[in-house]
Amino acid sequence: MARYTKSVCKQCRRERMKLFLKGAKCETMKCPVERKPYPPGEHGRGRIRESEYLLQLREKQKARRIYGVLEKQFRNLYQQASRQDGITGENLLRMLEQRIDNVVYRTNFAASRNQARQLVRHGHVLVNGKRVTIPSYQVREGAVLALGPKAKNNIVIRHNVDTVDRAIPAWLDVSSERLEATVRGAPMREQIDVPVREQLIVELYSK
Ligand code: SF4
Repeated sequence: MARYTKSVCKQCRRERMKLFLKGAKCETMKCPVERKPYPPGEHGRGRIRESEYLLQLREKQKARRIYGVLEKQFRNLYQQASRQDGITGENLLRMLEQRIDNVVYRTNFAASRNQARQLVRHGHVLVNGKRVTIPSYQVREGAVLALGPKAKNNIVIRHNVDTVDRAIPAWLDVSSERLEATVRGAPMREQIDVPVREQLIVELYSK
């Protein structure tokens, strides 16, 4: 399966903001965005002409990078979102938010979406009692997500549950004792805490 393997911190620097792709390091002064708050590369500190296209492109790249989705898969998701009823940009964000790797991240069982994706890929996550190993799997309303027996005793996961204090969104009901979460319903736009202006992504893809 194709995946991004280069420096993820450069992705944050390119977007000129913290995208929180690395867990604990993101909260410290070791974060490269704190130390080098300009885009990477030879011309990183040069002047950039901000065209409408560039703004739209950056917004799309930012969303892709936050959720760890490659270009082709992102475009497919957009096409699915545009076929649904409602506002396309919100549909897109909702689908990204309901990916199983993101849901595991939102429960605070994982420190980052990358770590959540790894838990899924390694078969540690069950949905309604069945193992799911596809990070893009959509977790629907009413689904009960749980960690497998090995993961429940995993020291890293225990550490995450004790130390990660991100706010858990209201569309999830999380039990940190049982290491389970129930999806109360599809997330509303205001419950999706990502710094993305989805309308710009729609404009980009509608050209
Ligand atoms: Fe982004 Fe985290 Fe790296 Fe900072 S430490 S640049 S927030 S991934």
